[in-house]
Amino acid sequence: MKDKLDRLWAPWRMEYIDSVLKQPGGCFLCEAVNSGNDSERLILHRAELTFLIMNLYPYNNGHLLVVPYRHVGELDDLTGEELSEIGELTRKAVRWLDRAFHPDGYNIGLNLGRTAGAGLPGHIHYHIVPRWDGDSNFMPVLGCVKVISEGLAATYARIKKAIEEDS
Ligand SMILES: [Zn+2]
Repeated sequence: MKDKLDRLWAPWRMEYIDSVLKQPGGCFLCEAVNSGNDSERLILHRAELTFLIMNLYPYNNGHLLVVPYRHVGELDDLTGEELSEIGELTRKAVRWLDRAFHPDGYNIGLNLGRTAGAGLPGHIHYHIVPRWDGDSNFMPVLGCVKVISEGLAATYARIKKAIEEDS
């Protein structure tokens, strides 16, 4: 099942995803922030202490991550200001996703530690996963990949447009 799902994902894979993930020991979130190319790295918005980026391996179309710039892994490492801005950016991200995709709902949350499914335990990040009525029929088990109805670049462009219309 997993092999089949991974193959289905292949048409949407962008070359840089492979190049980023092959870098040993790197933190793709820190690398994305420092790359100087927000659109290539799928960074949608930079706030003062946190930023909004698309998940390279989305569970659903429009799956976003809210991330502090600082490379810290635990809730206790976050300052009050960072926590507050994470809340504010999450609120904005939902507004932008509403505008771009009109989902029926959201799962928003945190995977702390590898056991809980965190792919990158060293750099804390909040997931925002848009949900549509009936999509649970197709939701994969954790870590599996399914077909996404739009490519990452098309999704990026659509959310960017929603951000611009909102500001
Ligand atoms: Zn990092």
